[in-house]
Amino acid sequence: MTRDGVFEAPGRINLIGEHTDYNDGFVLPIALPHVVRVTAARRDDGVLRLSSRQASGVTEIRVVDLVPGAVTGWAAYVAGVVWALREEGHPIGGFGLLVDGQVPLGAGLSSSAALESATALAVTELSGVSLERRALARIAQRAENEFVGMPCGIMDQSASLLARERHALLLDTRSMETEHIPFDLAPVGLTLLVVDTKAPHRLVDGEYAARRRDCHRAAELLGVPALRDLDGAEQDLPDRLRRRVRHVVTENERVARVADLLRADRVREIGPLLTESHVSLRDDYEVTVPELDVAVEALLGAGALGARMTGGGFGGCVIALVEETAVEVCTEAVEVAFAGSGFAKPECWTAVAAAGARRADHVSAV
Ligand code: ADP
Ligand code: MG
Repeated sequence: MTRDGVFEAPGRINLIGEHTDYNDGFVLPIALPHVVRVTAARRDDGVLRLSSRQASGVTEIRVVDLVPGAVTGWAAYVAGVVWALREEGHPIGGFGLLVDGQVPLGAGLSSSAALESATALAVTELSGVSLERRALARIAQRAENEFVGMPCGIMDQSASLLARERHALLLDTRSMETEHIPFDLAPVGLTLLVVDTKAPHRLVDGEYAARRRDCHRAAELLGVPALRDLDGAEQDLPDRLRRRVRHVVTENERVARVADLLRADRVREIGPLLTESHVSLRDDYEVTVPELDVAVEALLGAGALGARMTGGGFGGCVIALVEETAVEVCTEAVEVAFAGSGFAKPECWTAVAAAGARRADHVSAV
């Protein structure tokens, strides 16, 4: 066992299945080539020393002093993972951890889960603690839920830890069953265009928690363990809850249909389902903002086969399935539409499905 090493975990883009994970539903993310890298070294003094190239200051705390609230800000994502592992009885001691990330922070590409996942992999591997990737994802989620205080689902951490290159990850968030479905657009002349809208996140944490509460309440009223267990999209509920439920049920169906199409090599046909997902998130789930809606409309107007917001909403990114030959015209259309609406300049790039978290140094045979 080595004392130090370099570990990388990617951000993610969710192809479809938005706000389904905390309803025990299905999601279909890909990992991005962008990673958060953690350089880790075990320490014998029981101290956790954390720094990041993307943040100022150094956090130092003894691992025995870790309790929720003891560390705040970005370092909580890292310290939380060590706390969660120790809570579950794993002997994680002191560490020096240096973070360097390429996943843009707060853009909806899940830099937080990438940071947690890289940390979880680093400290377990260097401590000789052998845990399955699914267990690491749960640990990372627990860190974010209980230590950071963000009630996120399990999708982001699963994508970061379980995804494979050139594949999308179909995940049943209840059973944690996974299927790696080929997702390789270049051979068929297509690409996934990502538009980072740069829209400022507004009220995001409060709204996210409010949606979770709506879903929980609806499930309670309908007498099911989770919205995933409903058969029909139309339920007898007060208007707002009725629309929330309709989104979750139809979104789960769309994930299944997209997965079927991908398995059948009919990727072009997923376009309309992506767009339907956006409409549902806009009208029924109400988590879009003008920047997201304008981007989707501009992309579709410029010939995209389908487009939707991705991530939690209230800002962040839009994805579009486009012909490789149409990338430029789609990018231009978004830029023009944003300028016309007085929005900040968006950033457009194309994404491929990359590999999940890994050790990135050369391990000696010691
Ligand atoms: P997202 O996960 O979509 O990027 P979040 O708000 O969930 O957005 O997580 C972003 C937070 O994660 C940042 O505010 C910061 O606290 C932490 N973070 C992510 N990457 C880094 C990094 N490279 N260095 C320091 N903190 C990071
Ligand atoms: Mg996050």
